[in-house]
This record gives sequence, C-alpha cells and structure tokens, in this order.
Amino acid sequence: MSKRIVILSIVLPALVASLVSSAGAAEKVKVLIIDGQNNHNWKKMTPPMKATLEATGRFTVAVSTLPGNKGKAEDWAAWKPEFAKYDVVVSNYNDGGKCRWPEERRKEFEKFMKEGGGFVPVHAADNSSNDWPAYNEIIAVGGWGGRNPKSGCLMRKKDGKWAPDPAPKGRSGSHGGSWEYPINTEAPDHPIMKGIPSGWKHAKEEMYNSMRGPCKNVTVLASAPCKQTKVDEPQVMIIKYGKGTVCHITLGHVGSLDAIQCVGFQTIFARGTEFCATGKVTIAIPKEFPTKDKVSIVPADKVTWKLKTASKKSTTAIILASVLAGLCVLAPRRG
Ligand code: ZN
Repeated sequence: MSKRIVILSIVLPALVASLVSSAGAAEKVKVLIIDGQNNHNWKKMTPPMKATLEATGRFTVAVSTLPGNKGKAEDWAAWKPEFAKYDVVVSNYNDGGKCRWPEERRKEFEKFMKEGGGFVPVHAADNSSNDWPAYNEIIAVGGWGGRNPKSGCLMRKKDGKWAPDPAPKGRSGSHGGSWEYPINTEAPDHPIMKGIPSGWKHAKEEMYNSMRGPCKNVTVLASAPCKQTKVDEPQVMIIKYGKGTVCHITLGHVGSLDAIQCVGFQTIFARGTEFCATGKVTIAIPKEFPTKDKVSIVPADKVTWKLKTASKKSTTAIILASVLAGLCVLAPRRG
C-alpha cells in the first residue's frame, strides 16, 4: 500500500466522523425550561419533563428557576434568562394570574417570540399571567387566574371547524375529577400529529375545559370529549405569534407522574417542542404509544425514541466528506 493511501485511510474516516458529529451536535435544539412557581409540584414535574426531551436525543435542556411569587425585587432584577440563546422555552410556571416578571423581561420574551422563538406552555402554565396581554395572546386561551367571560372566546368546533366562540356567559377555566380519557386527533396532517392514532387513551388525569382568551391564529391539533361541558375541548393547540410558534398543551397534571409519563403526552410534548423550534418534526412515534383502549405509562429513559431521518446538516456533511474522499483516492498520483 502506498504511503498516500495509508495516510488517507487514517485521515478520511476521522474527517468524516468529525464532520458528522459536529454537524449532529451543532443542530441539537436548545430548550430552556422555566419553573419556580406553580399550584402544582413543579419540583416534581421539571425532572421528568427534562428527561423526556433529553431521552429523544434531539435537545439540550437548561432550566431557569424563577424567584416566584415570594421573590424579592432584587432576585427578580437578577433573573436574566437570555431567551435569545435558546430555540424554544418550555413553561412549567404558573404565577396564579398576576405576572411578577420585570417589564424588561416581558419585553425580551415578546421580542423573542415575535422574531421566531418557540414556546410550549404545559398544563397550569396557561393559568399564569392573566394581567399580561401579550402572554394571553401567545397562549391563545387560558383559565383561572382572574379570567372571566370578558377575557375572550372559547375555542369551539362547529360543523367540523374550530373557531372562537364569544360565549358571553359561563366558566373561564374548569376541570372535573381525574379519569382515563380519549384524546382525538383534529389535524392528522400536521407534522406533530402525523402517524399518531386518530384516538388514544390518555393516563388518568383532570381535563381542562372552558379556557378563554384572544384565540388568534389557533390550530387545534387534538381534543377530548368533556363530561362537564358535553363538547370537545381543545387539548393541544398551535398558535402563531409574530414569527414565533407556540404549542399549548393543557395535559400534564401532577399529582402522580402518570400524566407526564404517559407516552402520548411525552410524544406530543417532544414533537411539539421540536416543531416550535424548527418548524419540522423528526422524532418518530415510539412503539409504546398508547392505543384506543390502553394507556401507556413509561419513564422517558425506557421509551424507544428514534429520530426519523439524518438531519440536512449531517447529510450534507456526509456527502461532502464522501466526495472529498473519492476525489483524494481517484486523483492521479505523480512520481
Ligand atoms: Zn392540574
């Protein structure tokens, strides 16, 4: 073997490997989970939520714990999460309706969203910050926290189409007891929902209903038939806010961890987070996904996560490296 081929056979695989791994690492989605205040046990919720995202292999996840409702002014002033460093913010934060964020942070978050950031409010995150008009627009609908019929419309299905319903009277956020209930797909062709069964059984938890808000630019992805209101209630929604994208998930009550370890919840949570950040979904439906009749509760690290395709960047890197290798090998040798 010539010296040149020996060198190439050592250098090229290393080059390919380094290009592929750097392309792969560079394109992980950067997530920031915010917590620190909730009427649910947020300390118990954040670790499994983080575990789900990390187990997919698609995300790097940081957590920012806010000072909360009892936080001192100086603690709030010191809270500088730098949203712009992330692709998407996940909220496990509920202030009960009165927003404590400094004005500057609110403006930063609004700018982050308007310029194309992603946001995933989970469960009681939509009870939060009723006195922050932009937040209500970002989440489209919310409940409790001082909301009332004047807070806006309900999302209601009429003749098969979802639309805002002003419903001048009635509740603004409610739920009954907990039970295992069906989640029905409303937008089967949406990237988040593609391949998810038309109906599946969610782990035992409460079902949010009668949520109200500005209802602007909303696509309902999934709903559940509500015992209280006797109509389908939206449970997963996509909202456009400026160039930003929101995946609002009402599911995820903790008590027990069943609801956020439901593979149906985890799949939609992970795919929704990816979609808000990239506009695409590469996380495949795990084989443990619940069926129409059977719930599926599995800790994140025991779920079979797969990414559907090599990303564009790593594909480009592989092609580039292969072409380079070919050129080197085929180049005529002198002397
Ligand atoms: Zn709850």
